[in-house]
Amino acid sequence: SAPVITVDGPSGSGKGTISQILATKLGYHLLDSGALYRLTALSVLKNDIDTNDIEAVAKAALELDVVFEPQIDGEQKVLLNGQDVGVELRLDETSEMASKVAAIPEVRDALLIRQKKFRQSPGLVADGRDMGTVVFPDAKHKVFLTASPEVRAERRHKQLIEKGVDANISHLLKGIIERDERDRTRTVAPLVPAEGAFVVDSSTISIDEVVQQIFDFIGF
Ligand code: C5P
Repeated sequence: SAPVITVDGPSGSGKGTISQILATKLGYHLLDSGALYRLTALSVLKNDIDTNDIEAVAKAALELDVVFEPQIDGEQKVLLNGQDVGVELRLDETSEMASKVAAIPEVRDALLIRQKKFRQSPGLVADGRDMGTVVFPDAKHKVFLTASPEVRAERRHKQLIEKGVDANISHLLKGIIERDERDRTRTVAPLVPAEGAFVVDSSTISIDEVVQQIFDFIGF
């Protein structure tokens, strides 16, 4: 089957940007698995689904009507039920709910097959939390990106401002630290580097340097 490069790490570590660059340079497909959890969260919020109703949340995940449209600049347009939800996906409320639904094993199972389908020729760059540990354990190359919570909060802030969303850094930082804790200590797919993963801390190096280090690692 097609080669996979997994890029796992916490939000704001730069994995979204880095994954886009890798996929574009290699001509590979891109899986933004976080978007699938965010989309499930949006569906839960839009349809007023009770998060205690695990069956209903898992059903929402299983039945997501989503289309990813790659754009020239490497970004992806995300359509949920035919509607562009790019801005909504990034809202704080959505992030919060995404992290909650992601802790439900039935939701993770529901999204597993959908994620594996992204593995197509000539290859895939898979961006997420458990790409190297759970979804593509046989990936050819595994990368784990980290950055300090402060740097990640600043990056998220910049991202939101660019999208025209008002945001507060200290509020974002608090959210990041809480979500980190939840992602790391949850019993299903906790956020830890996969065995053999190449670990890069992007706090103080540029995107180009991170990309270069990864290309050196995969021998490209
Ligand atoms: O990466 P992003 O911030 O978009 O992910 C949103 C949420 O989805 C995260 O807080 C995380 O809990 C969850 N997630 C996950 N497994 C993945 C990708 C994202 O649990 N592979």
